[in-house]
Amino acid sequence: MLQRILDSEPDLSPSQIAHIQQQLYQDRNTLARLRQELVLCLSDITIVGVEKTQGIQFFSINGQGSGYAPDNSVPLIAQRTLILRVYVDCKRVQQQGPQHLPIHISGSVIVDRIRTNGSVTRVATLKPINGPIAARSSASIDRGDPNHTLNFRVAASDCQGLLRFTVTVFEQGPVVIDDVLGAIYAPRPSERDTWLPGSATTTAAAPAAFSLKVHGRFEPVPTFRVQAVLVHYTGGGQNLPAPTGFDFADTLEYVLKTFPIGRLEFEDCIEIDFDKNLSTCGGGCGPGFEGPGGLMVILKDLDDSSDRPAIRVALIPSDARMCVGGCGNKNIAAAQDGRGATLAQEMGHALDRKHAPYAPGWEQEEPPFPQYGDYPLGSIGEYGFDVVTSEVYDPNTSHDFMSYGSDRWVSPHTYVGLRNEIVERFSDASFAGLADGRFSPSGDPSQETLFLSFRVNRDGSVEVHPSFHLPARAQPPDHTSTSDVSCELLDGKGQVLGFHRCRARGSHVDPDGPHIDFHEAIPWVDEATAIRFLRNKEVLHLHDIEALAPTVKLPASGLRSSEQRLTLKWEGHHPERAVTYLVRYSRDAGRTWRVVAVNSSKSECVLRQRQLPGGEQCLLQVVASSGIRTHVAQTKPFSVPSEPRSATILSPKSTSETTSTGQALLRGGAFSSDYGLGAPEDVVWSSNVDGVLGRGFELIADGLSEGAHTITLTAPDGQGGVATASAVLRVVLPD
Ligand SMILES: [Zn+2]
Repeated sequence: MLQRILDSEPDLSPSQIAHIQQQLYQDRNTLARLRQELVLCLSDITIVGVEKTQGIQFFSINGQGSGYAPDNSVPLIAQRTLILRVYVDCKRVQQQGPQHLPIHISGSVIVDRIRTNGSVTRVATLKPINGPIAARSSASIDRGDPNHTLNFRVAASDCQGLLRFTVTVFEQGPVVIDDVLGAIYAPRPSERDTWLPGSATTTAAAPAAFSLKVHGRFEPVPTFRVQAVLVHYTGGGQNLPAPTGFDFADTLEYVLKTFPIGRLEFEDCIEIDFDKNLSTCGGGCGPGFEGPGGLMVILKDLDDSSDRPAIRVALIPSDARMCVGGCGNKNIAAAQDGRGATLAQEMGHALDRKHAPYAPGWEQEEPPFPQYGDYPLGSIGEYGFDVVTSEVYDPNTSHDFMSYGSDRWVSPHTYVGLRNEIVERFSDASFAGLADGRFSPSGDPSQETLFLSFRVNRDGSVEVHPSFHLPARAQPPDHTSTSDVSCELLDGKGQVLGFHRCRARGSHVDPDGPHIDFHEAIPWVDEATAIRFLRNKEVLHLHDIEALAPTVKLPASGLRSSEQRLTLKWEGHHPERAVTYLVRYSRDAGRTWRVVAVNSSKSECVLRQRQLPGGEQCLLQVVASSGIRTHVAQTKPFSVPSEPRSATILSPKSTSETTSTGQALLRGGAFSSDYGLGAPEDVVWSSNVDGVLGRGFELIADGLSEGAHTITLTAPDGQGGVATASAVLRVVLPD
């Protein structure tokens, strides 16, 4: 009516119009609120909240949750499985006594994608993965019980852009309807879709139902790159074969559940022989990890001499006797096969995360680890949710995986911190200048860089470990705090050619420990004859650089790519020093390099054809160091054929049949070193019984029919064909 006055009275002053418009606005709001309250009052069943979780989320209900940040404020990651936990209140449960038959509720979620031009497309219609559940009043909902909420799973491949979820919950009869109960209970909605309402139903005669729309916007994070380093362990008197790529994928599963990772890409695996003793304790992770020739040193050299950013992860055989379960440092991590939570912590360190309370150095975390509500310090702070198993992690007992606590999962603090670091470390923008690789001789000016490893003991003595120099581009900015240790390159007259302040690295490093290891990238000048190490102004040590670089002679005959294994042998020599080698491979005439062997004193290297991406102008390069000075020898160009992707199913295990209750975890993909893993949405899963099941590297198939299924994965092989793999799954439904 007010609107009509406005339209028909041209003589109103602007302030009168404004006043009336404000009145109109308030009245409309009041009306909407009253309508909403009426709906809530009349509905038997209402949705009191929807938690959107991909592992951890802020959400408060019945005093459960930290209240540290607004509900659902942990960002949603694109290409990552989402669970909608729907909290439902049923009033009638309170009103009726315990002698009444239980009420069950179920629901559905319609998933629509809203594009920037406003168009809407249907993505999926979901049934709950755990419904129907017993109805309860909202006051009696326990967030720690996965079956106190109706849970819906949105497939990772659908989690992109802006999605609208239309959540409907309704009363449902028991799953098994016999003649007697059938007369009492309403028929199952699936049999009568017509009364599945789109909005709240308030007619008393119709079964109670309630509907709500919520939205989710998914932020893309850059592709997370991992390189597996499989360790053949011969230290400590043991001889244990290297874990396989499958073992690596299995151990990585916990990381995929708890890290804010959407898309994943594997760099080609390498296998190394490793003979240092990992069971000796002392000084951080122990000398087997951090001493000369230690596993972390090998990984660091590998990272320094590789082109593309990736987290290099060494997997140690599960039977190895070890003092600590793993070790982690910038870009590099090592853990024992099967120890997922340990690997998560070490990979956290690789992404510059410090420990959480109470583990050594937790006070150094910046910003500090938060106190979540009344939960113990170091708690995950919110209820964690395993999107694969529906297991809930309770913040009263569950601790952040960066701590040494029990029952480890991820807190919002670590999750968001990792997200920020992954964006910075892996985004194309940070590496825009590195498209040709860090070691490209063309393009951006590259700088001969000394990758210097050394140890400073508590008494101030310095040990220089095998180091090398290679042309490299400027490194991405390093936010690690500086140390009081620095080093200078000196020429023959004692003039300083360069000064470098070292970084305090390593989350396991105890500044008061017996020694600290450093790995520094320093601009190299050939005129340098000595390195001077200082702590503040005090000179700790003067290290004489050997006068001559080693020599390396490669065989004159070219390499042939017809062989399944390539063996490269060379002759290396230095008049007074031991020589260590690393071997690099280029598929593109030296524009980009990948490391294929590292930290070896052997003058040969065996390469498997499948490890090497193909190209017409391939090169192998031997980098020989006599301590500091480095000589590089290179083969003539040779050609290597490209390999199509081959497909692998990790779950269900293709070797045995699996029983399940209509729900199965499907994991797998197709990979070759030429074409990588590719896009998750190109991986299609199907069953010979139920047809197409969905897409993605990981998919949880629900509602599978009873009986034996042949599960088939297909993905593009990169060469215009299809890579395929199959596994057998036997589904046994509960009686
Ligand atoms: Zn640690």
